[in-house]
Amino acid sequence: MRALGLANVRQERFPLQVWERGREDAMVLSPAPQRIAVTALGWSPATPVGGIEAEVALVDSLEALKAAPANAYKGKIVLVTQATPRTHDGSGYGATGPIRRFGALEAKKRGAVAFLLRSLGTHHHRFAHAGSQDRATITQGIPAAAVSPPDVELLQRLAKRGPLRMTLTLTPKPVRDGFSQNVIGEITGSEKPEEIVLVGAHIDSWDLGTGAIDDGAGTAIVLGAAKLIKALPSPPKRTIRFVLFGAEEQGITGGRSYAEKHKADNHLVVTEADFGQGPVYGLNTRFADPEHPTAQALMRVLAPLGVVRGSNAADGGPDVSPMVEAGVPAIDLAMEGTDYFDLHHTADDTFDKIERGRINQSVAAYVAALWTFLSWAAISV
Ligand SMILES: [Zn+2]
Repeated sequence: MRALGLANVRQERFPLQVWERGREDAMVLSPAPQRIAVTALGWSPATPVGGIEAEVALVDSLEALKAAPANAYKGKIVLVTQATPRTHDGSGYGATGPIRRFGALEAKKRGAVAFLLRSLGTHHHRFAHAGSQDRATITQGIPAAAVSPPDVELLQRLAKRGPLRMTLTLTPKPVRDGFSQNVIGEITGSEKPEEIVLVGAHIDSWDLGTGAIDDGAGTAIVLGAAKLIKALPSPPKRTIRFVLFGAEEQGITGGRSYAEKHKADNHLVVTEADFGQGPVYGLNTRFADPEHPTAQALMRVLAPLGVVRGSNAADGGPDVSPMVEAGVPAIDLAMEGTDYFDLHHTADDTFDKIERGRINQSVAAYVAALWTFLSWAAISV
């Protein structure tokens, strides 16, 4: 940000709770021995020394798990086998997300000693898909892990041949206190500096890969937009604030901290780039008046990039969602995500997946949309 010439570059520190992965090992014992690929879910406690050996109960869905009576899975490892559908807008992941967040809590209520789920990804490689659980699992969880999709299908076949027994060993460290930070920079408005247009991305990622897609791509789009807006011959009328949030993956910790600290700031509109590299195909707004002239002005600059008008139910993105819930207007530049969950939160989220042409189109769309807010007279959406 300093190299780009942004103003007021700073870090804003916030407290968080630290969960750190350890060793993870899973082995089918019967009906046929086979090592399977697993990864512990965020906040999972460790298994007892020596690991857990138990029978595995296959369950079709979170709903089926919740419908089971108390003690239905006493002493067993529960595995929810539901697959995440491939969709271009992330709605498939939205539908299966609760399995990861609440599955361990529901399995524990029914006597289970550990919880497994089919990885919440659309990939077919033997990588498991990491992710966070509900915060209640910090104190009330049981050992919990994701299984790679081909291994879940293997377990479903093996289960037809006889009772399925396996061992599971997870050794994450106990949760401890720590801190992280949001990184902020601005281009100060020339006429109305107190009016802020905020664009964010997040700089944390899951540990299995390098976070190139989630959310290095979004960070690149935001900083690419900063570079182009800074290079324009005249400064924007309003202030644009670029925020690289910390600790999104553990439950929007940086986003909540920012929203609390900056609730008195005059945020005109907020948005985030956190759905891979694009291209951008749709504009969603959350305006009091979806037919506001600003929405029409946005479509005039976005349509030539292939962008179509979407809904007026924008959420802005995960890190800005606390501000949107508090009533701040938002836009989403919806990005093509058919392949996003092939990579997201897995060891395959690495820089070689980045495609310059997709990033370039996304940067163009963000600059066009942001400049509309920064330069235009009729605002207050
Ligand atoms: Zn993300």
